[in-house]
Amino acid sequence: MKTLFAGAGALGSRFAYMLSQNGADVTLMDDWQPHVEKLKKDGLKVIIDGDDLGYHHFPVFYPEELEGEFDVVFVAVKSMQLPSTMEKLKPFLKEDTKVLCILNGLGHVDTLKEFVQPENILIGVTLWTSGLGGPGILDAVGTGKTEIKQVAGEDTRKTREIIERYNQAGLNFHYSDNVEQSIWHKAGLNGVLNTYCTLIDCNINQYGSYSGEDALTDAVLDEFVAVGRALGVAVNKAIIKANIHSCFDPKTAGLHYPSLYQDMKNGRLTEIDYLNGYVARRGKEQGIKTPVCDLITHLIHAKEEVNGNH
Ligand code: NAD
Repeated sequence: MKTLFAGAGALGSRFAYMLSQNGADVTLMDDWQPHVEKLKKDGLKVIIDGDDLGYHHFPVFYPEELEGEFDVVFVAVKSMQLPSTMEKLKPFLKEDTKVLCILNGLGHVDTLKEFVQPENILIGVTLWTSGLGGPGILDAVGTGKTEIKQVAGEDTRKTREIIERYNQAGLNFHYSDNVEQSIWHKAGLNGVLNTYCTLIDCNINQYGSYSGEDALTDAVLDEFVAVGRALGVAVNKAIIKANIHSCFDPKTAGLHYPSLYQDMKNGRLTEIDYLNGYVARRGKEQGIKTPVCDLITHLIHAKEEVNGNH
């Protein structure tokens, strides 16, 4: 089974490393030049839980030089990079190539359907985390799990084979018919923690310690719940709030600055249009007012623009 990682940043390189350590056939594609040059020259330097595990080599390509045929294309770019990445991948998608997407955020199935038959789309959500310590350096901690589902089609044998193969490498994948709910629950958590920490300029514990936290959290989640339910997903506010509260402890994720915060600080564009921005957009279509998500989306875009992020 050949897997192409389309995007070999934090998340992609972590999964690619784990699969390749287990003997799987893995290829990387990325377009960030300093990273790709390091990967080609020295290999990926791997640090997991603080242990330096040395350098690991993979076939690595820029999109323009990609060659080969793949059974699975594992997209691991940021949400806003998905359409342009899929465009570049078109020549490499066979009739039965599965495209696996566990990006954060909402609305990715609609993007993927423009390029791939629904029975070849595997959509999901992951609780693995990862980071880069600079170009060519994977620096990650902890473990995680991932839920996926095949978007359409009765025959899920190939999808289940992928899950089995990935689990041999310790990736902890599960098939879940209810994956949409999990995707919305994670998006709701990110729609609160990523945005408020960025706007307030604080870590997760500091956000949780604010005396008005409950009101701020409810203001976002009420809109996620209303829009999600209008779209047919059983979004549950109590579950999302419990997940958010479990992050406040400094011993869990409390000292962490969320990914959107880090993107903002590092001069990159954020995934806001696939979180609160998506809820605002779909809310309008459904006739549901989403003033809080509208405002938060504007404020994050304003901050990106003022900072000159790109
Ligand atoms: P990242 O920025 O570290 O990696 C994305 C990579 O894609 C970069 O190396 C970039 O150069 C590459 N890329 C962008 N456009 C490309 C293109 N057109 N062709 C080829 N390569 C391209 O991001 P990440 O942290 O790995 O996140 C990827 C997705 O996974 C996001 O949706 C993120 O929210 C989600 N996610 C990340 C984590 C985490 O801990 N990092 C956890 C869960 C979910």
